[in-house]
Amino acid sequence: MESVTQVLATTNEISLKGGNRRWFERRLTENVRHALADLPVARVQRPAWRVLITFSKEVPFVDVARRLSTVFGLNSMMPISHCGHTLEQVEAALGPHLDSLTATSFAVRCIRSDKRFPMTSPEIEREIGQYVQERTSWTVDLGNPELTVHLLLDENGFFFWSRKIAGPGGLPVGVSGRALGMLSGGIDSPVSAFQMMKRGMRLDFVHFHSLPRTDPASLDKVRELVAVLNRYQGPCRLAMVPLLPIQDQVVARCPAEFRVLLYRRFMLRIADRIAGTFESHALVTGESLGQVSSQTIENLAAVEAVAARPVLRPLIGFDKQEIISLARRIGSYEISIEPHTDCCSYLLPTSPATRSHARELDDAEENLDIDTLVTTAVGDADIERLTDVVDWEGIPVPAGAGG
Ligand code: ATP
Ligand code: MG
Repeated sequence: MESVTQVLATTNEISLKGGNRRWFERRLTENVRHALADLPVARVQRPAWRVLITFSKEVPFVDVARRLSTVFGLNSMMPISHCGHTLEQVEAALGPHLDSLTATSFAVRCIRSDKRFPMTSPEIEREIGQYVQERTSWTVDLGNPELTVHLLLDENGFFFWSRKIAGPGGLPVGVSGRALGMLSGGIDSPVSAFQMMKRGMRLDFVHFHSLPRTDPASLDKVRELVAVLNRYQGPCRLAMVPLLPIQDQVVARCPAEFRVLLYRRFMLRIADRIAGTFESHALVTGESLGQVSSQTIENLAAVEAVAARPVLRPLIGFDKQEIISLARRIGSYEISIEPHTDCCSYLLPTSPATRSHARELDDAEENLDIDTLVTTAVGDADIERLTDVVDWEGIPVPAGAGG
């Protein structure tokens, strides 16, 4: 197993953000430290758009890669080795590495952030390139090399790496405001939360249940999903809301064909109120266009009409198979596929409306005291602060990290 004492990561998009750059980078550094909290980190530095992590002793690269794969804003990561302060020392350290690599063509790339060194980057690249060529007889190909020998020169000397793996991309969690994720216990909603975290949002969650009609185990399932998602963002709040009293009224007083859509409208109204107390900017759902009859564009629009905040649907254009691959990459899939009773399947009609209009739903709700139902449900919500996180083994190893 490959062990490392230093890992270099590149950052994503942050260079685009002009005046916010410093703030973004600080947030990213904090998130990196947080993700690596259980490893012996000696230093986290930020040479030129990068994050350089130094450990106080050797750690398996796969452990580092797994943790950094949860830090949005990192574009790639590479295990690096220190190789001295002079070109002679670099060559001596590089030699054995080169012997263990196979390639036919190569290039040397140098990033020189210590400007005191008496040679420029191109000069260093030429000198080391010549050494590599003599040692290996690979040909130089600057356009499309099979192998790139990377050097970084900073105030600590030279570092070398020859392979990198992809990071999670996105923006550091915490730079894009807050949202309230609607978590059902299914496959889609955790993925939708993940996608918004990836754009820098921090999420709290709401879950609606039909206890005692549905299984109380479904609440633990939602907590387990949050424990996976929290690996990507840190602790959050989770509101558990009883929907059964509202569902009973909808069943008793409204046309059967609109049941699911009316349950959904109440979920949005309640989530919207809770979002207010959590200071969330938006609601997030796992809806995907056309996946089920409640997710036709007409129905989505008719349901959404009752929400004051924007309803973000990051999976709207995703196929189920794409959502499943993401769920596997996140580590939520195995939990999501455990059987549970969905509160929306409660007393479903045989033919639900597929093309409703907001006005029709308004009419269907005529005999309900909407405000009282919503206020009561919000008052009956249990709000938990969730600090639990899944063991790191519950987060998949990123591709190429070994292990
Ligand atoms: P999921 O896999 O997330 O359950 P789904 O494809 O089964 O999604 P629906 O059951 O129609 O679709 O739900 C659509 C979205 O509505 C969910 O992704 C979720 O964001 C929200 N939602 C549905 N049921 C609940 C619930 N019980 N609590 C909170 N949010 C819910
Ligand atoms: Mg569902």
